[in-house]
Amino acid sequence: MNSHLSRPFIGLFLCLLLIAEVSAQTGRFQQAIDYEIAVNLDVKTNQYTGSQIISYTNNSPDELDKVFIHLYYNAFQPGSMMDERSRTIADPDRRVADRISKLKPDEIGYLHVTELKMNGKPVKFTEEETILVVYLDEPIQPNSTVKFESKFMGQTPIQIRRSGRDGEEGVRYSMAQWYPKVANYDEQGWHSNPYIGREFYGIWGDFDVKITLDKTYVIGGTGYLQNPNEIGHGYQDEGVKVPSPKGNTLTWHFKAPMVHDFMWAADPKYQHDKVQMENGITVHHFFIPGEKTSENWEKLKEYTPKAINYLSQHFGQYPYKQFSVVQGGDGGMEYAMSTLITGERSIRSLVGVMVHELAHSWFHGVLGSNESLYPWMDEGFTSYASSLAMSSIYSESKNPLAGSYSGYFKLAKSGLEEPMSTHSDHYNTNSAYSSAAYSKGATFLAQLGYVIGDEVRDQGMLKYFDTWKFKHPNVNDFIRVMEKESGMELDWYKEYFVNSTKTIDYGVKSVNPQGDKTEIILERLGLMPMPVDLIITYKDGSSEQVYLPLVIMRGEKENESGMPERILTEDWPWTNYTKSIMINKKMDTIKSVEIDPSMRMADLERENNKIEF
Ligand SMILES: [Zn+2]
Repeated sequence: MNSHLSRPFIGLFLCLLLIAEVSAQTGRFQQAIDYEIAVNLDVKTNQYTGSQIISYTNNSPDELDKVFIHLYYNAFQPGSMMDERSRTIADPDRRVADRISKLKPDEIGYLHVTELKMNGKPVKFTEEETILVVYLDEPIQPNSTVKFESKFMGQTPIQIRRSGRDGEEGVRYSMAQWYPKVANYDEQGWHSNPYIGREFYGIWGDFDVKITLDKTYVIGGTGYLQNPNEIGHGYQDEGVKVPSPKGNTLTWHFKAPMVHDFMWAADPKYQHDKVQMENGITVHHFFIPGEKTSENWEKLKEYTPKAINYLSQHFGQYPYKQFSVVQGGDGGMEYAMSTLITGERSIRSLVGVMVHELAHSWFHGVLGSNESLYPWMDEGFTSYASSLAMSSIYSESKNPLAGSYSGYFKLAKSGLEEPMSTHSDHYNTNSAYSSAAYSKGATFLAQLGYVIGDEVRDQGMLKYFDTWKFKHPNVNDFIRVMEKESGMELDWYKEYFVNSTKTIDYGVKSVNPQGDKTEIILERLGLMPMPVDLIITYKDGSSEQVYLPLVIMRGEKENESGMPERILTEDWPWTNYTKSIMINKKMDTIKSVEIDPSMRMADLERENNKIEF
């Protein structure tokens, strides 16, 4: 058979080749990048110059004749897209509002690439505000690695949004979004989003960063310090006497493996405390001591390791050897291995913001979903995880997700709701964005427990982390994990809850005597269909359950622990607005019938869920 191929065999062979070609073209790939950056910051002018060597690997099947590089600091200039947007949106963010338009030349931010070479040859580039467009005469070939060498200069803006200098609490430098950062290219193409206001999407790689600045400054942020015994400032090994530096500056050398961003903050007044966890993780805290900080930051040191342990147990092992909580920024913002948070807070608020930003390490740091397209997969899942972590840390018994549900209900009733599939910069209002991303995103997960069972959802979250860590999952990837975990089809759940603003409302329409039996009529009043758990409580104190899954789920959740015994399981097709159920008990034995007493289903009108006699 191997001496010659008959015509049909050749046809099949060609066909298979074609299929292989197509799947290579449509399959998933990830770009890879390594950064080597050296930067020198002048703490008098707030300006910096730097050089950058980027090793960029094109794992896509495409030739790239352009590359896009983020220059985020150019947003902090009068007339920028961020400036316009923050002044014209209906509900401005008070941190930005009209502040950018009033910045003086020494207060604006900028970041310019002054020289750029690829593989040793100069390349053409133009600056389009916050994006540098690089034109390549010689395209980057699939499966090849190129080397970009650049020089850049920047000015750190007055603290307005996320990063900057001289913030309200007096922190001198919160250096996030400070370096030229290559935009991501994936199976959906380039993501060269201008910096309007929302969050980020990056490529994982190894960062090697050398920062030179005034020797009195203490730096905290992303990365493992390589020269702690030269630097001191609380980093040195125990018992080491740190030599005093010769000049006025120190050069800090950090390495950060497998991260998609690099943040640092610096202040001469920082107190630096280290906590060594048993599992080998070192937790660093940096804050400016004072009446409004010292006591609570001292207490905070206890909470950070607790939160790391809780989140690792429930959402997957934290993969880095370090986490740094740094006072700075303008509220709370997550970065690789670190966070910038404002520090003059009550202890509860301080712990709350730390836990939230830390929880981002799982969804932003390690899963790394595109936050322009799927902000709720980061903010919502993070809010969900941090609410559970807070509830556990403070041993609270009330529903930790109650706030997320009420935030979502308020949004749904406001008339301002937009689908969660909206690009994060393009929501009509800031409030519709944040209620969708944070509250509805968290509700999505909490409610998923109602659909597939809490335990299955919890196992699914660990599976999700394991399957998709360092791979940029999208909404379908998440749904597929949960489908496999539950054995159900869940596309409808995504279509309705993510891609539409249709809402849920089920009600008990009537309970009618039928001789020795009782008929219960339920109705669907909302546009989004859901499975229904109906609990019947009898006057003798016992209770039973009727379970009505959707046909389109093609499966049933197992009865959850603590739930009454199921006396009936029957599909309720979504096309039917009412459902009649017959119970083999006399009506006068019934005390109440109630749809979802667990209140995990985001039912907008709870009043009609229960009839009590
Ligand atoms: Zn967040």
